[in-house]
Amino acid sequence: MAARLIDGKSLAAQLRAALKPRVEALAAKGARPGLAVILAGSDPASQVYVKNKVRACEEVGLYSVQHDFPDDVPEAALLDCIARLNADPRVHGILVQLPLPKHLNGERILAAVSPAKDADGFHAENLGLLVSGRPRFVPCTPAGVMRLIEHAGVTVAGRRAVVIGRSIIVGKPLALLLLQQDATVTICHSKTRDLPAVAREADILVAAIGRAKFVGAEMVKPGACVIDVGINRLPDGKLCGDVDFDAVRPVAGWLTPVPGGVGPMTIALLVENCVRAASR
Ligand code: NAP
Repeated sequence: MAARLIDGKSLAAQLRAALKPRVEALAAKGARPGLAVILAGSDPASQVYVKNKVRACEEVGLYSVQHDFPDDVPEAALLDCIARLNADPRVHGILVQLPLPKHLNGERILAAVSPAKDADGFHAENLGLLVSGRPRFVPCTPAGVMRLIEHAGVTVAGRRAVVIGRSIIVGKPLALLLLQQDATVTICHSKTRDLPAVAREADILVAAIGRAKFVGAEMVKPGACVIDVGINRLPDGKLCGDVDFDAVRPVAGWLTPVPGGVGPMTIALLVENCVRAASR
C-alpha cells in the first residue's frame, strides 16, 4: 500500500487560521504581534522565502517590517539595525534570513538578536534552553516537523528515529525534540558509515541533507514515517526533496511531499513564535 501523505500545506493553513483570533486579542490589548525580517544580499531563494514569511504574517494580522541590505553590507550596519529592532516595541520577533553573505560573522549577528525576540530560535540562549529540556523559542523547521508527525498520529515515544543531517537549524534541534518525546534518536551525517543500514532501522526517518532524491527505497523500513525537509532545485527548475518520492512512497507508511510538506509548516511556526513572543 502506498504511504499516506502528510499534508503540510493544509495543516499550516489550519495553524495560521487558529492564530488569527489570538493576534486580534493581543491587538485589542495594544500588543499586536510584530515581525521584523532582515535580508542581507540578493540570494534569489532567500528573497522568495522572505516574501512568503512576510505574506504569512500579514495574512494572520501581524505587523511586519522588512529591512533589505546589499551583498556588501558592513557588519556594523546589520548590528545597528538589530539593536534598533531589539528596542522597538512594535517588534516581537526578529528574523535574520540565512545564509548571510560570506564576509559576515553569522554567530555574532545571531547573538545580537535579543533572546526574547528570537523568533527563529537560533540564539545560543534559546538553543541552550532546548538542550536543557526547557524549550522557549524552538527553531521553526524542527518544530514544524514535530507537528507533522503528531498530526499523522505517529507514536514517537519508544520508537527509533533517525535524522540525516546535523545542522544547527534543522538536524540537531530536531534530534533534541524527538529525544524529548522519548524517541531513541540517531543523527547521521556525511561521515556516517553504512548510512542505508542505519536509516533502515528508523520508525521515523527525517532527511535534512540538501541532496536531491538522496533517500531511496533501500534506506526505508517498510511502514516508516518519512519526513522530507530538503528543498533542492532540479535542472528543469522543479523543486524536489531529499527523498526519492516515487521510489519511497510504496515502502513508507507516511511521507511528506515537497513542496507542500515541511516548508509551509516552517512559516506557520515562525508566525506562532512571534505570537508567543508578543504574549509573554
Ligand atoms: P546544511 O547546513 O548544509 O547541512 C546538511 C547536513 O547534511 C550536514 O549535517 C551534512 O553532514 C549532511 N550531509 C550532506 N551530505 C551528506 C551525505 N552524502 N550523507 C550524509 N549526510 C550528508 O543544510 P540544512 O540547512 O540543514 O538544510 C538541509 C536541507 O533542508 C536543504 O535542502 C535546505 O534547503 C532544506 N531546508 C528546508 C527548510 C524548510 O522549511 N523546508 C528549512 C531549512 C532547510 P556534515 O555535517 O557531515 O557535513
